[in-house]
Amino acid sequence: MSYLRSVGNFRFGPDVRNSMPAPGLVSRAALASMFAIAALVPRAAAQSACALAAADRAWIEGLLSTWDRASREALQLDAAPLPWIVLFDASCVWHVNSAPAAPPPQAVPDVDLTFANRALSVRGLVHAGAIRLPDERDIPPRPMAFAATYGEPQQPFLVMAMPSLWRAEPRHAADPRLESLLHAVFAHEMAHTRQAEGIGQRLDALQHRFALPDDLDDNVVQRAFGDRPGFQDAYERERDLLYRAAQERNARSRRLLVADAAAAMQSRRSRYFCGADAIYAEFEDLFLWMEGLGQWTAYRVAAAEGLGDVEALAFTRRDGKYWSQDEGLALFLVLDAMVPAWRSEVLEAPPASIPQLLADAARLQPHFAFESSCQTANEFP
Ligand SMILES: [Zn+2]
Repeated sequence: MSYLRSVGNFRFGPDVRNSMPAPGLVSRAALASMFAIAALVPRAAAQSACALAAADRAWIEGLLSTWDRASREALQLDAAPLPWIVLFDASCVWHVNSAPAAPPPQAVPDVDLTFANRALSVRGLVHAGAIRLPDERDIPPRPMAFAATYGEPQQPFLVMAMPSLWRAEPRHAADPRLESLLHAVFAHEMAHTRQAEGIGQRLDALQHRFALPDDLDDNVVQRAFGDRPGFQDAYERERDLLYRAAQERNARSRRLLVADAAAAMQSRRSRYFCGADAIYAEFEDLFLWMEGLGQWTAYRVAAAEGLGDVEALAFTRRDGKYWSQDEGLALFLVLDAMVPAWRSEVLEAPPASIPQLLADAARLQPHFAFESSCQTANEFP
């Protein structure tokens, strides 16, 4: 059985994290009353209430064409069917491209929507405050976007709130770039859906060697080590070296910066990821790959929507609060600058170690490997 299935609620890429519901936020009693209310909504009313308005349909088409362009031009991916996409506002949920048996029978086929010249099914229904996801969990209608997996074999799905829910939050209401932000977020999550198989394979392999923590997600390293003395300084130094390398136009200077960043990363890992913590190097590689690709895709979407490179970078980094996203983006920027064929090495499962790819590309001498070389405790009193 796949790890993703066994933990059920593993999510990769809850990108608007402070909008994410905490597990159990909606109590069982509240859910029961929501379902009771839903049962009272007459079927005809549910159908007409959740017809897709023209503006909403246009917005969804905008999301899909953003991804179509990013996947073809930035990622150069082969065309693939869309995953199951769950979109919702305060009262309705629309299941785009859902599995044939779902959602429940009271849902009605809505307007037709196409992607890559193929018709997509769209089914709208009233959710009455609890949105049932493909993995059978329920979430409240809040501004959020994430990708996860369901079923056996594991298949990815994507969840995203419609614009009305984002605009209802003061921090988004006045944002003139909300449309671009949502396009970038959607592309980030869509990139994750293309990584899902590789993520599952890597986690399956890891769980044969290590006991995986219950709170495994893309912030696991930051959460476990962020407060340890010296860790944040070490992380920031290496991140800054990578962003300098990304902006460096001279190839030799860039290689030197990459060498410095690789040495800094190796030094940090040798100090902190020792003994029982050795698994964090594996997690770090996995989540830098995931979040780096997601953020690099988002950055390319922002640039394609008319922001200049500098502005698109600031737009995508925002406050850099999530380390795997921020360092991951720097790694992919450098990778794109140094390794012309990176897509064939990185997009296909199983995921590679991006720092190792960069060290190889910089032709560091002697051959540089991110191997475990833990220092003994008394070297760092
Ligand atoms: Zn992500």
